Amino acid sequence: MEALAAKLNLEANGHDILHQPRRILTFSIPLRMDDGSVKIFSAYRVQYNDALGPTKGGIRFHHEVDLDEVKTLSFLMALKCSLVGLPLGGAKGGIAVDPRELSMGELERLTRGFVEEAHNFIGPDIDIPAPDVNTNAQVMAWIVDEYSKIKGKFQPGVVTGKPIVLGGSLGRDAATSMGGAFVLRHFVEKKGMNAEGKGLTVAIQGFGNVGGHIARILTDWGYRVVVVSNSKGGVYNKDGLDVPALRAAQAAREPLADVGNVEEISNEELLELDVDILIPSALAHQITEENAERINAKVILEMANAPVTQEADAILEQRGITVIPDILANAGGVIVSYYEWVQNTQHVSWSEEEVNDKLEKQIIQAFDALLAAMEDTEKNLRDISYEVAIERIVEAEKLRGTL
Ligand code: NAD
Repeated sequence: MEALAAKLNLEANGHDILHQPRRILTFSIPLRMDDGSVKIFSAYRVQYNDALGPTKGGIRFHHEVDLDEVKTLSFLMALKCSLVGLPLGGAKGGIAVDPRELSMGELERLTRGFVEEAHNFIGPDIDIPAPDVNTNAQVMAWIVDEYSKIKGKFQPGVVTGKPIVLGGSLGRDAATSMGGAFVLRHFVEKKGMNAEGKGLTVAIQGFGNVGGHIARILTDWGYRVVVVSNSKGGVYNKDGLDVPALRAAQAAREPLADVGNVEEISNEELLELDVDILIPSALAHQITEENAERINAKVILEMANAPVTQEADAILEQRGITVIPDILANAGGVIVSYYEWVQNTQHVSWSEEEVNDKLEKQIIQAFDALLAAMEDTEKNLRDISYEVAIERIVEAEKLRGTL
């Protein structure tokens, strides 16, 4: 968190209200194990800033959850919500647990235990958690149930990322990828990149929820996805991959190379291929000062969080490679989470088409505002994004009289 605060010059800019989280909650959750013993688990919830509205952010179950990381992630959520114009602040939370070591019953009791501790500090008008690493729609369903029991009324708006039958939103599954694809298409059109009418070539690192959906969407739109990869490596075909067959193989946990008519390629080689668009959709810190000189893509769309390091950013900029930053590129997920919350609080349900139409308008409006803000400066998209996001929060703090 300190490194990010220093990069953004938070104190020097008079923005020190954003230098520390507004609220840090720590809990000890006793869990009755299946064998009758009791174990205590540490949990955190950081509500970084709530000037724009109730705070919002995921909750992860991971043995390495630590408070400093949760603080940084909650700050980035605050910036992301602000950047795309949501009436929400930022939060993040986690329980320090390896969920693979718990039975389903233990996992459920741990989740309910978290709600028993946190119920006065979360809620549809206070702080709205969502799935994150190792948490899913089932965990959200347990939270809804426990919270609703404590409050004595059905409260689906306490979390997002729920199963559809409990108030989840259509379109949420693919929302992160859909948002990124809308941003990419807009950028490509603005820059006249597909003027020759050929299918732009795309490399995608990571073929999970985000990478798989964006491969499908871009293929449907006429882009040529030439390489995709998972943790075991990638597959390449210069004429374009059979994305539906690869998604079926990934879902069946079969090797991607089994689909045939592909060349195997390493994750390192994938990043350096001569393609129009590179989409890191797996892990952080994949493009570093070590390989930035060898990146050949014209545009990098950051679907993973922080796949490009600060040092690599500078090298890429010098080389004329545009990076569309994570804070915008992968904001589709939180935008549709917000739509889920709106539908819950208004007791309505929107079609997938309606969700996607709203998402496109909202994310493109934010992108256009950034492009306009860039016109009079030499700054890159990432720096402008941070500035615009911080300014909106600071303006809200001023209007509310805090500053
Ligand atoms: P996921 O677990 O569904 O998929 C991750 C993919 O990355 C898998 O295909 C996995 O095999 C692959 N992978 C793992 N290690 C790899 C490696 N060393 N090299 C190449 N591939 C590797 O996760 P996801 O939900 O698709 O999320 C992907 C990224 O997007 C993460 O950084 C996540 O934080 C970010 N993100 C996701 C969402 C969302 O809504 N799911 C929203 C915002 C950001």
